[in-house]
Amino acid sequence: MKISFQDGLICRQEGFHVLTRQALEERQLELLNMQLRRAVHKGAFYRDYPERLDSLEQLSQLPFTDERTLRDSFAELCLSPGRELVRLRTSGTTGTPKRMAYSKYDCERTRMYFAVGLTELIYPGDRVLCAFPQTDENSLGGLIASAVKTIGADIRCLSGGESFGEMTALAESDGSSVYVGPPVLLLSLLRLMGKKTPLRRALVSSDVCPSTVRAACEEALGTRIFTHYGLRESGLGGAMECQAHEGMHVRENDLIFEIVGEEGERLPDGAWGELVLTSIGLEALPLFRYRTGDRGRFVPGRCPCGSVVRRLETTGRLKTPAGSRLDDAVFRCTSVIDARMEEGTVSLLVLGDERQARRELEALLPGRPLRLRAIERGDGPFFRGKRNGLRR
Ligand SMILES: [Zn+2]
Repeated sequence: MKISFQDGLICRQEGFHVLTRQALEERQLELLNMQLRRAVHKGAFYRDYPERLDSLEQLSQLPFTDERTLRDSFAELCLSPGRELVRLRTSGTTGTPKRMAYSKYDCERTRMYFAVGLTELIYPGDRVLCAFPQTDENSLGGLIASAVKTIGADIRCLSGGESFGEMTALAESDGSSVYVGPPVLLLSLLRLMGKKTPLRRALVSSDVCPSTVRAACEEALGTRIFTHYGLRESGLGGAMECQAHEGMHVRENDLIFEIVGEEGERLPDGAWGELVLTSIGLEALPLFRYRTGDRGRFVPGRCPCGSVVRRLETTGRLKTPAGSRLDDAVFRCTSVIDARMEEGTVSLLVLGDERQARRELEALLPGRPLRLRAIERGDGPFFRGKRNGLRR
């Protein structure tokens, strides 16, 4: 089995010939201390932080930061002068808007990460359908588009406003062989196109991939799909699966993740808790011990691919754990194209025989009110952008 791209990328970026766990952790501590020193001198927010830690374990002595910190103290958290920033405004996944900023270096670094990471599934000559809009060159779609071109493949980024009919028509007329985008949308498109689909491989990101959705996509494609985890606070790129598909290898020379319990205590490998992020590689707005609000765990032991880089598994937002469970049940019915909760009722777009679909869904979701509608040509996805699971 091919080793994760991550090991080679870290070797190249950090000047290692061979990557060992010890060398990687020593480098992480060096980068963490460089970042702390910058932060203490340049960021008003970090004035009282220590300039140096003696071990990676001591990271747990630093206070947590969270969405509120980012909203309330944006200017004090920025370490790069305003003229060097590529700013992005973001609404976050819950609550009032928060901002994140990147420097040119940050964007280049992420572009490189995608360019190398996407070679796991994209080959020269491929035609890629990307469901992330390319609003500018440093948007998620923009970074993926230029990474894909580096590989020698073609890409079409959707605008986010297309109907299902328009999306399948584009995929078919382009002969798109690879999909990059949210998992449920991939399943919607595969079900709508059926055997006509030109899609062969896929990377899913942005939302957690429910296991039913994953299994159905893999069956339709006839191959395993790759999952990626990233958030704006991690510089968009974060962690990605290798050919073993047993967890996502973390971009460990740029990011340190911890898993913490409800009391904020650090949890051992294998235990589920909240993902906490420290961005040792971001230049403009590094964060220390940022509570992501996402639930995850480290996969214990070494990956079958041979990589020494740690692996994450995630299951979505801590606050809405019911969401992906409901998605899991709903998409078991093979007629379902999309679904959402509307005031306690599960609203569904279905393909084919409605009565048959209703019978199946009543068995899958006993006692839940259902509203089914046959999909029409002009229908689009219920969720434009992040799905956030289906709420109760
Ligand atoms: Zn691996």
